[in-house]
Amino acid sequence: MSSVTVVGGGLVGLATAVRLADAGHAVTLMDPDPASGATHHAGGMLAPVAEVIYRQEALFPLMLRSAALYPGLLRVVDKHTDLPTGYRTEGTLVLAADRADAAHLAQLSEYQSANGMEVERLTLRAARKLEPALSPQLAGAVHIPGDHQVNPRMFAAALLDALNNLGVVIRREHATTIPDDEQVVLANGLGAAALHPGLQLRPVYGDILRLGVPDHLAPLLTRVVRGFVEDRAVYLIPRTDGTLAIGATSREDDRPVPRAGAVHDLLRDATRLVPGIGECDFLEATTGARPGTPDDLPYLGRVDDQLIISTGYFRHGILLTALAAEATLALVERRDPGLDLHACAPHRHATQKEHP
Ligand SMILES: Cc1cc2nc3c(=O)[nH]c(=O)nc-3n(C[C@H](O)[C@H](O)[C@H](O)COP(=O)(O)OP(=O)(O)OC[C@H]3O[C@@H](n4cnc5c(N)ncnc54)[C@H](O)[C@@H]3O)c2cc1C
Repeated sequence: MSSVTVVGGGLVGLATAVRLADAGHAVTLMDPDPASGATHHAGGMLAPVAEVIYRQEALFPLMLRSAALYPGLLRVVDKHTDLPTGYRTEGTLVLAADRADAAHLAQLSEYQSANGMEVERLTLRAARKLEPALSPQLAGAVHIPGDHQVNPRMFAAALLDALNNLGVVIRREHATTIPDDEQVVLANGLGAAALHPGLQLRPVYGDILRLGVPDHLAPLLTRVVRGFVEDRAVYLIPRTDGTLAIGATSREDDRPVPRAGAVHDLLRDATRLVPGIGECDFLEATTGARPGTPDDLPYLGRVDDQLIISTGYFRHGILLTALAAEATLALVERRDPGLDLHACAPHRHATQKEHP
């Protein structure tokens, strides 16, 4: 058994610390304010299929593997806490607002099917039977049964409770150097670049809204609804606590507060798919920074005897948390992680000077 310090208590660091402590390692977690980074703002979709992006084939096996590992991770967490995670398995609907959007959706579904993913074309009548709140004026619908969700804030609180129950030491401190311990896992999102040269991380901002569904409309939706509206992507995520998240923009303009135009666009597009949105309570608009890398793949691997890097999860960090935790446990124990992680090598973007 090893003594391991995990730097960073976003979803990745928290789940990794739980997995390590559950396996019997002596774990310390360092974070001045756990779950205050991208995790606090995330939608929480576990969407290996709907999130498929053309020409990013290296990501698909990681995403699919992580989705498959999720139930196992949740079982481990459940052993150590009674708090809920907001895990829901009702699946995801993807909608098209107009005919051009329907053509785009049909093309995307063919690409997903061609890559062995499960997608079902639905008639609009069938889609509205599943979700009666959908607009009657849509142009296409697809059902993705395997794309699920967690509530990232709830899940983070459950993980923190599990860590306390497991006796993990939580140091509410900002690491300014690599801590002195037998093994160290750098899982501090965008902050990792300051501690380890050669990691190229950049913030990709996302605006996201939270609404309250009034009693007379509840539940407005029962599953995740995504859509294309005049070629813009939008998603609506119903939570077990009666709230609804609507997201998200993607911008690299270094403005870390919600943009008024983004709030307007998200509400307009969401209302086009689900007209009842206009009746909901507006609770919150926030902006989070996704930890992006030059090739959109994470940095996940061992760099020397002491140090393991686990960051750069970009748009998929909630989904990839299960893979990150499982692979890091294997790396700490110097076992084969069971998946080819070469594409995620932490030094692939380092210069000769940073990684001689
Ligand atoms: C609007 C939005 C929507 C998203 N939706 C989804 C989604 O639906 N599905 C999905 O899979 N992903 C989604 N993501 C992406 C996801 O949120 C991130 O990939 C994920 O949260 C990254 O987790 P993390 O633990 O690596 O980093 P973070 O959550 O950013 O956590 C990093 C932690 O490290 C700590 N830290 C930083 N520096 C130090 C230091 N020096 N010492 C100690 N601690 C430190 C911080 O305090 C923070 O708590 C979304 C992101 C955004 C912004």
